[in-house]
Amino acid sequence: MQAAPTAPPIAPTDPLVGRIETDRFCDDCGFNMRTAPVFRDERTRLLLARCTECGRIHDAALLTTAGRVWLNRLGVFATVAWMFFLAWATFMLGLAEMGLQYATLDELTEASRVGRQVEADMDDYWAFVSLMLGLSAAAGFVMVTLYACAAHHWKKIYHMLLAAIVPMVPMTIAWRAWISEAPHLEQWAWQYLLAHASVQVSAGILAALFGRTIVRGLATVLLPPRARAVLGFLWLADGKPPPGTK
Ligand SMILES: [Zn+2]
Repeated sequence: MQAAPTAPPIAPTDPLVGRIETDRFCDDCGFNMRTAPVFRDERTRLLLARCTECGRIHDAALLTTAGRVWLNRLGVFATVAWMFFLAWATFMLGLAEMGLQYATLDELTEASRVGRQVEADMDDYWAFVSLMLGLSAAAGFVMVTLYACAAHHWKKIYHMLLAAIVPMVPMTIAWRAWISEAPHLEQWAWQYLLAHASVQVSAGILAALFGRTIVRGLATVLLPPRARAVLGFLWLADGKPPPGTK
């Protein structure tokens, strides 16, 4: 990590070789040098990168050591593990949503000799329905925010499509489960199934629009600078300068 103190200044004529594509922090000022230009010094043939914040010259060839190769292999493993986590989280949120929808229908009805009947005067009806719809909205928001951060290279429209399509799955399963339990209450049930799906889709679209901004805000407030700098991709994804470590 030693920057050559005697490195000659980068001349404007030095050819641009590429850009730093990983998180790399300036030894001097702590700035995340990701996207900083990499030059080959004409005289020494060394690959150099200049911190775009403080101007200090760094040895860019550090990025191609044997250790780095193994880090890259570990990175592939971590990426696959992360994709499994994302699929698992999506599945669990869908499962929770299905449970929420079924629980709403179940709680608003009671068993009787002629099958399930809608409960007539339920105490706290609005409080209960609001709570259940609120949880649905939260599940939709968390799911799409997860994708807005993890799949930050997608266009916003794909996050929105995800927000609109995924909630149809738990709703369909809750509907099928419900009509096997109380087929005579299918029409009644649809108002709640659709309400659940609508708030979930709406919350998901809000997450597609603002989820990443909210996560950036939370990271700024909750994380110490060095941990926050690792999340620099959340800033770069929206064309904002990544946070430094100081
Ligand atoms: Zn610097």
